[in-house]
Amino acid sequence: MARIFVVANQKGGVGKTTTSVNLAAALARLGRRTLLVDLDPQGNATMGSGIDKRGLSRSVYHVLIGLCDVVEAAQPSPDGGYTVLPANRELAGAELELVDFEERETRLKDALAAVDDQYDVILVDCPPALSLLTLNGFCAAHGVIIPMQCEYYALEGLSDLVNTIRKIHANFNTELKVIGLLRVMFDPRITLSQQVSAQLEQHFGDKVFKTVIPRNVRLAEAPSYGQPGVVFDPASKGARAYVEFAEELLRRLDGDAGAAVPDAGQD
Ligand code: ADP
Ligand code: MG
Repeated sequence: MARIFVVANQKGGVGKTTTSVNLAAALARLGRRTLLVDLDPQGNATMGSGIDKRGLSRSVYHVLIGLCDVVEAAQPSPDGGYTVLPANRELAGAELELVDFEERETRLKDALAAVDDQYDVILVDCPPALSLLTLNGFCAAHGVIIPMQCEYYALEGLSDLVNTIRKIHANFNTELKVIGLLRVMFDPRITLSQQVSAQLEQHFGDKVFKTVIPRNVRLAEAPSYGQPGVVFDPASKGARAYVEFAEELLRRLDGDAGAAVPDAGQD
């Protein structure tokens, strides 16, 4: 049975897609059969996996609307070693079209059930903001991975996100857990980053992944070559950190320490 994780943070530009794509590639390198679902109409995870979003005849949009199933729309990432359920801007229309559907928040969950035995891990890259698309991601998942930058406003956003996850846990998906918080784009030279990082550890304890993803230009360059950083430059600091993160995630799953949803805090 596949473990399904949603990579979420309601803020944009915080490293969701970079984390999704590189974690998918790292899990593939570690021998896990991995599916990456691009749930963002921007299609960045699709492009970053080496698939041209402009040429899609079938995408996650068609899956959500019920026009095809996952197997028909999924395609291999040419260099990534994982499979992608791709997206492009057509997906933005799904939001409106789904309003008329019954059980519109479980469309993705129901579609993924059909490929559950074909993958070890399914990752869902979410758009920023809590839309019906993101809700579909949360309803399909067993756990949430939250990438965040260690800056002041990140903490504020975090309590909003944790509250949202609590509501989804209560109303839609009782299986949902916060798997962990991943510190990304980390620059140890910045004092505030260190302070925020320490606060995170203090408040969220072992919900904070030990692995820290550094700010690394190779991770930022890789998408323009249609490759995850892990494939583009495996020796780079960023790539090595994502492989380490994948290993930590797998260890955590084996231990399955995950308590439910942590306190939102008073920040
Ligand atoms: P999101 O999906 O949350 O909007 P992205 O993953 O697209 O965020 O990241 C936003 C920008 O930051 C992108 O240009 C990406 O290449 C860059 N970026 C992400 N992580 C890193 C990192 N660890 N080091 C350097 N640049 C990064
Ligand atoms: Mg993104």
